[in-house]
Amino acid sequence: MIICKGSKKDHKFENCLFVYDGNWGDAKLVEHQNYHESLENENYCWLGFDVPQTIGRHSGRDGKRN
Ligand SMILES: [Zn+2]
Repeated sequence: MIICKGSKKDHKFENCLFVYDGNWGDAKLVEHQNYHESLENENYCWLGFDVPQTIGRHSGRDGKRN
């Protein structure tokens, strides 16, 4: 699961709802990256992708300490 961290526009955080269930380098991700990068300027900054470990499926007994 790969999510988009959103962007900063005029010093304000802008959420992005892009979520992708796939692999790095997939066309969908490149497309989305290009979309943000095409908007980048001195007032707009893209924060990149993130892989949240807490979202998604839980494997259950994976050795968690708590
Ligand atoms: Zn995005």
